[in-house]
Amino acid sequence: MDKKTDIKSFQHFIGGAWSDAEGGGVFDVLNPLDDSLYAQAAKGTAADMGRAVAAAKAAFPAYKETLPKDRERMLLRVAEIMETRKAELLDCLIDEIGSPIQKAMFEFEKGLTMVRAAAGLCRYVRGETIPSDAPGKFSMSIREPLGVVAVITPFNVPLIKTTRLVANALAVGNTVVHLPSEMAPHLTVLFAEIVAEAGFPEGSYNVVTGFGHEIGDDLTSNTDVDFVTFTGSTVIGQHINEICAKNKTRNTLELGGKSPTLILKDADLDKVMPLAARSIFMFGGQACIGSSRFYVERPLYDEFVKRFAMIAGKVGMGDLRDPGTVIAPIISDRQRSRVKAHIADAVEKGATVVAGGEWEGNRCQPTLLTNVSDEMTVCRAETFGPVTSIYAIDSYEEGLALANDTEFGLSSAIFTNDINKAMHFAKNIGAGMCHINGPTIHDEAHVPFGGNGQSGVGREGTDADMEAMTELKWVTVQL
Ligand code: NAD
Repeated sequence: MDKKTDIKSFQHFIGGAWSDAEGGGVFDVLNPLDDSLYAQAAKGTAADMGRAVAAAKAAFPAYKETLPKDRERMLLRVAEIMETRKAELLDCLIDEIGSPIQKAMFEFEKGLTMVRAAAGLCRYVRGETIPSDAPGKFSMSIREPLGVVAVITPFNVPLIKTTRLVANALAVGNTVVHLPSEMAPHLTVLFAEIVAEAGFPEGSYNVVTGFGHEIGDDLTSNTDVDFVTFTGSTVIGQHINEICAKNKTRNTLELGGKSPTLILKDADLDKVMPLAARSIFMFGGQACIGSSRFYVERPLYDEFVKRFAMIAGKVGMGDLRDPGTVIAPIISDRQRSRVKAHIADAVEKGATVVAGGEWEGNRCQPTLLTNVSDEMTVCRAETFGPVTSIYAIDSYEEGLALANDTEFGLSSAIFTNDINKAMHFAKNIGAGMCHINGPTIHDEAHVPFGGNGQSGVGREGTDADMEAMTELKWVTVQL
C-alpha cells in the first residue's frame, strides 16, 4: 500500500524479492464497476522478464531435487494461508475484477481444491519398469520436470487459473514465471506472498506484472523457458503457438469458446432452467465455458424462451457483496464495446431481443436473442458477456449438426433422459468437454479440462499437467 495516497501498489516478485519495474514505470488497474483507480502495478519491461526467467532457471537445479514430502507440505501450507487470508482474496476478486461475492466464493473454494489436489500430485510423478529384449538389461522410464514453466493467465478466473497451473507446475518440480492479466495483477501478487510465506525457495515462483502485448513475447520466446501454459483469447493463443513452434517450446493453450447446450423435447424444464441461467449469466457471461448457444427442440421452444426471459429479468444486478448478485461489470472499455457491438449488429440484422439488451453502468443486462442468423457476429464469435442466442431445432440430429458448426470446441451440454442420444452426443460433439444433464460451466482439479479446434491445444488438470509439464527419460542398467 502506498502510504501517501492510500492507493495499493504492487511490485514484481523475482528471485524471492519484491522489486519495481526497471525504469520505475507503473500502470493503473481500474475497478471495473465504476472505472475508479483500484491500484498501480509495476509496468514490466523486457529486462524484468529476462531477470525473472534467469531467476527461475537458476532456482531449478536445486528445486527439482526437493522431496515430494516437502513440496506437498508447502502446497498444503499455501492452502492453509489462503484460508487465513480468505477475506483479502475475496475483496480482491470483488474490487479488482468485479466478481459478485457468490462467484468470488466459488472461485476461492475451487482455488483451495486446486492447491490441495496439486499437493497430492507430488507423489505421483512416476515412470515405469519396461521389459527388455536384451538379456540382463533392466529397463525403466523416469519422469523428470521440464525446467522453467511460463504461466500466462486471463482476468476472469485469476485465482482458479493461478492456483491450478502454478501449483501443478511446482508440484512436479518445475520453477515458474507468471505473467498475470494486466487487469488482475493484485490477485497474483497476493498468491506470490502466500507462496513465499509457505516456504517455497527463492526463484521457484516469480511474478512479473505488466502488459502482455508489451512483454509477453519476451517470456514466450525466451529459449530458457521450457513450457508455456497460456489461458486467454484465441487470437493471442495463436500468436503464442507460432512463437512456441519456432523454438519448439511445448505448450498448452486454453482459449475461447462458443459452447452449445442442446435441450431435447423430453427434458424437464423445471430442472433445466436454473442450470441454463447459470450457464451464461455467471460472472456476467465472462466465462470461457459459458453457453452462448441454446438449441431447443421445437415442442419445448416457446416455453423455454418464455421461462428464460422471466429468469433473465430477475437475475441479480445489485451490490457485488450481496449474495443474490450474479451479473458482474464487463471488465474493460474495450470488452464493453465488443459486447455492445455484438448486440447492435444482431438487432440491426433482424434478431429479436427477448430479454435485456440494455446497460446499467458498466453492466450489461442478461440478454437473450432469438431469430439469430449466420451473418450476425453473435452467431459465431465469442461475445464474453451475458448474451446468448436461442434456436429452435426439429430433431436431435439437427441440433448436433448445428452444435458442431463452429470453429470452437470447448464445453458442451445436453439435457435429455434418452441415454442413447445423450451418449451419442458425448461421442460426436467436437468439444473437449461434454456435460449430460448439467451446465457447460463445470470444472474440477483432477479432470482433463480443455478444448479442441480454436478453443485450444492440450488439457489441464492434475494428471494432464503432470504429463505435459514433465518428460519421460528411458534408462537402462546392464546387469
Ligand atoms: P487475453 O487474451 O486478452 O489475455 C490473456 C493473457 O494474455 C493476459 O495475461 C495478457 O497479459 C496476456 N498476453 C497478451 N498478449 C500477449 C502476448 N503477446 N504474449 C503473451 N501473453 C500475452 O484474454 P482475457 O481477456 O484476459 O481473457 C478472456 C479470454 O480468455 C476469453 O477468450 C476466454 O474464453 C479465455 N479463457 C479461456 C479459458 C479456458 O480455460 N479455455 C479460461 C478462461 C478464459
